[in-house]
Amino acid sequence: MENKVVLISGAGRGLGRAIAMAYHSMGFNVIATDVDLSLFLDIKNKERFTCIKLDVTSESDVRICAEIVAEKFGKLDVLISNAGIIDFYPVSEAGSERLKKIFDVNVFGLTNLTKYCLPLLINGHGRLIVISSESYKVPSPFQPYSISKQMLESLYKSIKIELSLIGVKSILIRPGAMQTQILDDTIHFNIHLNNSQFEQEFSGFIETAPKYIGNIVNPEKVAKIVLKAATSKRPKSIYHINHNPIVSLFAILPTGIKNIIIKKGLTK
Ligand code: NAD
Repeated sequence: MENKVVLISGAGRGLGRAIAMAYHSMGFNVIATDVDLSLFLDIKNKERFTCIKLDVTSESDVRICAEIVAEKFGKLDVLISNAGIIDFYPVSEAGSERLKKIFDVNVFGLTNLTKYCLPLLINGHGRLIVISSESYKVPSPFQPYSISKQMLESLYKSIKIELSLIGVKSILIRPGAMQTQILDDTIHFNIHLNNSQFEQEFSGFIETAPKYIGNIVNPEKVAKIVLKAATSKRPKSIYHINHNPIVSLFAILPTGIKNIIIKKGLTK
């Protein structure tokens, strides 16, 4: 993989970091980017790592990063949209400002990356890899995260078709639970609402949600598949990894039954 170049968003820790290490060990030049540059202290001086501060919500950060990559490498072989955040609250009470925060990172981050990195991907005859989540398939109360992943998947479909018109392949990765900060934040989430219509239901949700997490894998296991998606001659269009069978079963139930189960689970 000599002279191959990969750019990863959110590579400071978790899955993004595991992806960075997997590609690096295969000989890639790794552009590791994150909103928090201090997460790169351990790798910033290592050969074949270029660590850049990049907030995916900032067009100017992404533009500057793309300029650095253009100057240094002139191309990208792989672009990985990985950065993501999680939060829990009643979406019906959130208002647009609060919701925009998670949509900006988890949805529009992808459009900023494609806007500025597309010429580099074209030069490298490269591939776009997008990290979604198994939770895209379960719209449930109090979960702006799963809404953001549904929006991401819709956006991705259009981007995939557009990029295919100009010969750029796109691949979607849908992992289940991984041992990262996002999972810790889910398990230990402990906010109790005040002045909300949903105080009782929300505390029911906070108690119940961790029970549906299922099998947890290390991000390194998922990173291996993200590497395969870039290096395989005929990659799959979508990779499903470590999905929770209970979530998959729940997802195919009729909406009315889903709603009864949710209501029963959240009210005492
Ligand atoms: P994580 O919190 O460990 O890592 C996320 C990284 O993104 C962090 O380094 C963080 O600094 C960075 N980041 C946050 N906001 C950013 C921004 N605005 N710009 C750039 N970087 C930013 O979590 P993770 O689990 O490694 O998440 C990686 C991806 O995997 C996310 O897209 C997440 O939705 C997805 N995912 C995670 C799980 C899971 O169980 N952990 C399951 C399915 C999908």
